[in-house]
Amino acid sequence: MRNIFLGQLLLLLVVSSSLFAQRPDKPTSSEIYHELQQLNFLGSAMYIAAHPDDENTRLISYFVNDVHARTAYLSLTRGDGGQNLVGPEIRELLGVIRTQELLAARRTDGGQQFFTRANDFGYSKNPEETLSFWNEEEVLGDVVRAIRQFKPDVIINRFNHRTPGSTHGHHTASAMLSVDAFEKVNNSSAYPETAKQYGTWQPKRLFFNTSWWFYGSQEAFEKADKTNLMEVETGGYYPSLGLSNGEIASLSRSMHKSQGFGSTGTRGSQSEWLEFLKGDFPENKESLFEGIDTSWSRVEGGENIGAILEPLEDDFDFENPSSMLRPLLQAYELVKQLKDDHWRTIKMQQLEKIILDCGGIYVEAVSETNSINPGNTYKITLEAINRSDFPVVLQSVKTTNGTVLLQENTTLEPNKRYEFEATLTSQSKEYSAPYWLKEEGSLGMYKAPPDKIGLPETPAPEQVQFNIALSRTELPVVRDVVYKYNDPVDGEVYQPLEVLPEMTVSIADKVLIFPDRDDRQIPVTLTAGRDNVNGFVQLNYPNGWEVSPAQQTFNMERKGESKTVLFTITPPRDQSEGYLKPLVRVGDQFFDKELVTIDYDHIPFQRVLLSAQAKVVHIDLEKEGDRIGYIEGAGDAIPESLRQIGYSVTTLSPDAITLKKLEDFDAVVIGIRAYNTVPELAFKQTILNKYVEEGGTLVAQYNTNRGMVTEDVAPYSLKISRDRVTDENSDVSFLAPEHDVLNEPNEITQADFEGWIQERGLYFPDEWAPQFTPILGMNDAGETQTKGSLLVAEYGKGHYVYTGLSFFRELPAGVAGAYRLFANILSLGN
Ligand SMILES: [Zn+2]
Repeated sequence: MRNIFLGQLLLLLVVSSSLFAQRPDKPTSSEIYHELQQLNFLGSAMYIAAHPDDENTRLISYFVNDVHARTAYLSLTRGDGGQNLVGPEIRELLGVIRTQELLAARRTDGGQQFFTRANDFGYSKNPEETLSFWNEEEVLGDVVRAIRQFKPDVIINRFNHRTPGSTHGHHTASAMLSVDAFEKVNNSSAYPETAKQYGTWQPKRLFFNTSWWFYGSQEAFEKADKTNLMEVETGGYYPSLGLSNGEIASLSRSMHKSQGFGSTGTRGSQSEWLEFLKGDFPENKESLFEGIDTSWSRVEGGENIGAILEPLEDDFDFENPSSMLRPLLQAYELVKQLKDDHWRTIKMQQLEKIILDCGGIYVEAVSETNSINPGNTYKITLEAINRSDFPVVLQSVKTTNGTVLLQENTTLEPNKRYEFEATLTSQSKEYSAPYWLKEEGSLGMYKAPPDKIGLPETPAPEQVQFNIALSRTELPVVRDVVYKYNDPVDGEVYQPLEVLPEMTVSIADKVLIFPDRDDRQIPVTLTAGRDNVNGFVQLNYPNGWEVSPAQQTFNMERKGESKTVLFTITPPRDQSEGYLKPLVRVGDQFFDKELVTIDYDHIPFQRVLLSAQAKVVHIDLEKEGDRIGYIEGAGDAIPESLRQIGYSVTTLSPDAITLKKLEDFDAVVIGIRAYNTVPELAFKQTILNKYVEEGGTLVAQYNTNRGMVTEDVAPYSLKISRDRVTDENSDVSFLAPEHDVLNEPNEITQADFEGWIQERGLYFPDEWAPQFTPILGMNDAGETQTKGSLLVAEYGKGHYVYTGLSFFRELPAGVAGAYRLFANILSLGN
């Protein structure tokens, strides 16, 4: 008993350290016991939704830790379209972070992760719009593929497929595609390639994970007919893990840090409600797996295996798990004989892990460097240790393409560490990078090679196989080659070994705004990916622009060294935009990629190769006024954008909002969602209004209408609604064409609403006092016109502006018209 308790204490430490994928898994006895419970359950469940964070981690953890089923979450997208609360990454780089956050969540709750090629292109009001951006045929094919590959008995949709328009279009679309896939997966003529590759499959039943929320109120739900509903108790406590299901679910959910979804664990009974949709109705409502044999007898030849493995749960040896090696090896030999490919593969993997874990057998392959170039030869250190009394022999070590690194039988004496050096030549000819970012896709779809579709991440480029014999059983143990180092503060740090180019190049600012014809010096940074590299760099540029010099030479001696060279850029006379693209030449090779590093504590270290480029925009722009005060909200890059067009911008902390301070500025801008995130603003509106009254210009950007620190955001009444216009190309009409904001100092025309990205705007007010002038009308197809996207009022001697237009997206993206309109807003009264 004592040891079990100690195991629980240790587990807490392991839970927090096993969050890092590259770090080897080192389970306690209690965790091995859990692995054994999962080994003895032959059933699978899959949860399907649209985004990272849609998944119900309570239910996923319940399936894994209570039922002991293989459990997967299929997220149709990687969440690229959202906002980032932990750093500057957006779009595809945010997708990389959220992919890793999902993997971190699954390492916490024990599930597996799948994706489709669908891109989270931004908010969508209904599934029809979603499916017009996604390639429906391909995304449905990817859902079918994931189901055929994973073979779930039970599928659960997060969203209701019957209520389009009630939630994000991606949500409803995920449920519709899941329902469609449920009908197609067992038909070999639907998506015949994956039917051939994985076989067809019929899941037993499909549910919708409903709750009172979908019924409007708790009362309505209590009264509802529940014939088709199943209640599942998901509040169980797992003594072997020391945690309640709700606590594991919260640890898992808290991995979605870029979305600020930290969650506090709950203990005690908690129900989930599942609405039966398709398949075999579970008449007794006893178990989601009702009518499915989830014991070893499920597979032909399985009874004998169950007879060996099931008693091990009752007699589990927590003090010395290696005492169970004989029966585990006996079972392994029988599993190897199973005719069923699907279960044989899964159970061999699970058993291999349990055997190594029970024996305290540890192997790793560590590279001397964290990056190599394609075809490089590099040194690795191989470590092998057997921390049991069981006889273990290391027979050989090979690369996965068959090169022998070590070939003499070495008996691994109990608790003696063996270390070997080896030299190997890179097996990978491709650069390491997220596979879905290698080729440019469309707005709605990523491209992926067929053998990678569905994978959460790109497999490690370099692997080795340790052939280990325990008695007469041979285990092929494959390990990624990793890099590790000792950090004076953090201690042991693991990183992936990556295959990278010999040269990378970057321009730090991704959007360069030229508000006039003055030339600018642009720094281009070169980084050596190997020792002794020299060559030339040039900049490709759009028509009409001028760049000098034509090329620059460089010479670097050490890998990792960086050098910055300057090019002078002169914009053309007219408004113009395009891209600067650096091109590096070394001998007869060309390099044009930038290496981006993503390094956060909660996810493994990531490096991404992107095309090196910077957008250059020459905007025909006039402005009045110069000094801008910026009150930060939830975080946006508008101050940087305003500096690029020549404003002097001062960021103001809430304490600095005093009338005396505000008087320094020609205009004061309030950052996005400030009235949602800055509590002090509840007490500052009087000062802000006074600033306007005395002649200032105050510009408030969008806030969500729920959870505001005050309703009092303007000198006159204003009601924020959920109105949004998501089509970035929707028509815009000028409701007040003579108003200064559309004419001074820049004359705004329809051309200024071209080239916008992602959306027009969001959370527009829908009611306002008569003192406001609505400036613009716009709407998505089939909807009534909104008039609240830009509201201007005079108050005292000054101007108050409320705008839900997405300047926070358009300005950092270099949209010329958005700059011209914003300059007019700031020029009001100046
Ligand atoms: Zn979602």
